[in-house]
Amino acid sequence: MSNKNYENLGFLTRSVHTGNGVDKETGAIQKPLTLANSYELPYDPSEVNWSSADKNLYTRNGGTNQQYLQEKIASLEGGEDCVILASGVAALSGLFFAMLKSGDHVIFSSITYIAVYRLLNELFKNKFGVETTIVNTSDLEAVKKAIRPNTKLIHIESPGNPTLSISDIEEIAKIAHENNALLSVDNTFASPFNQRPIELGADFAVESLTKYINGHGDAMGGAIVGKKKYLDIVRAESQVNLGATISPFNAWLIMRGSVTLPLRMRQHNKNALEVAKFLKTVKGVSFVAYPGLEDHPNHDIAVKQMENGFGGVLSFGLKADHDTYNRVVSHLQLITSAVSLGHDESLIVFLGENDERQYLYPEEFHNGFFRLSVGIEDTEDIIADLKQALEKENLL
Ligand SMILES: *Cc1c(COP(=O)(O)O)cnc(C)c1O
Repeated sequence: MSNKNYENLGFLTRSVHTGNGVDKETGAIQKPLTLANSYELPYDPSEVNWSSADKNLYTRNGGTNQQYLQEKIASLEGGEDCVILASGVAALSGLFFAMLKSGDHVIFSSITYIAVYRLLNELFKNKFGVETTIVNTSDLEAVKKAIRPNTKLIHIESPGNPTLSISDIEEIAKIAHENNALLSVDNTFASPFNQRPIELGADFAVESLTKYINGHGDAMGGAIVGKKKYLDIVRAESQVNLGATISPFNAWLIMRGSVTLPLRMRQHNKNALEVAKFLKTVKGVSFVAYPGLEDHPNHDIAVKQMENGFGGVLSFGLKADHDTYNRVVSHLQLITSAVSLGHDESLIVFLGENDERQYLYPEEFHNGFFRLSVGIEDTEDIIADLKQALEKENLL
């Protein structure tokens, strides 16, 4: 990695400069997009280890655009090293694959991205004999109680998708380390602008770059940040041999999007708080879940560990039936109905009452709810769009 000289500079400066710079060959002031899938071999290639990730041989072993981005994300997350893969889920499964073996035990949050639930509660458990326990990690006593002698990893998500649950990263890191376990934190909802799990004691920050870091809804990627001694294993086992390599073009797009991460996050934080406060005043809204609201059950922990704001995602319920939820979405003119989150534009998704994980959610979520990813548009326009849609169903 080059450009280490940026390390003492601020978050905004590093978002602009780290991993970028003048291209030595052409003098261009932006590092180029390198679409080659192979790199020239040394004079005597017979000594080359084809599974090595130390040298750029073949883009699955390592490529320049991936490496520029790794340098920036490691810096923004405050970690020693970073591995970038093709999606957030590739990063999560790549970390689990590299760190776990049969007979190990994993504790993971009851509120996580769906693929984490699928990977740990079904695939790793049933195919590879990894023991797993689902725990409400907002409850520190429950985390302590779930520890076993073979607990290798605790994986949490804070804020958790989709209920915005908050877990205390610092305290869970202590519990993990007192018991010789590692802590990984999915930092997708907060982004490193708002929260840096490694500085709070976690061993790994994992995230979907598809969301806030890219921020423009046009690329997929995932990152694992942590100590080099662990990430060397992730690189060797999960990058080179599982092969979920990010394309150079996606890495380049995410590099470009990430330049404005802090500016976008400021607007997401502001807009989401204002939208959450507005929704609290609406008579047809049954609940609003947002860690920035004082009535969030773990607002104090969110304040402690989220430095600049609470992110752009919130969830809320309606005092209405299933069909009304769909009709409200159909009335929206600005906000788009789509999964994903953290894009420049506002996105909404209706998560129905039949979700198989309802039993893990707090009760107010059981009749269906919206997850709203508040974009960076003008606050008044987002609120006006929600108002007119709710009004049409007599919910205002
Ligand atoms: C979207 C998401 C993921 C998965 O990321 P992809 O890039 O879609 O694979 C993981 N964790 C959280 C919290 C997410 O929101």
